[in-house]
Amino acid sequence: MSDEDKELQLQVTHEFFHTAREIRKVERQVLAEQGVRAPEGPFCSFCNSAKGEVPVLIHGQGDAYVCSNCARIIGSMAKDENESQL
Ligand SMILES: [Zn+2]
Repeated sequence: MSDEDKELQLQVTHEFFHTAREIRKVERQVLAEQGVRAPEGPFCSFCNSAKGEVPVLIHGQGDAYVCSNCARIIGSMAKDENESQL
């Protein structure tokens, strides 16, 4: 993979997680307006899903958490990276 491709992939990934967090934020606002209480933390550091909203939430270093959905996305990207180096 060229440096330009890597740069583009990083950008796309960044945008993806940013969008995922924005969606969660809007979702919470709408639910709050309907009187639904926001879920309790901890939240995934990547997509901002609460513990109860994802299959598994993995505790990373410090305050960092990653849910199994995001871990799979990150894992598949790392796999692509390895395959392209062969
Ligand atoms: Zn996540």
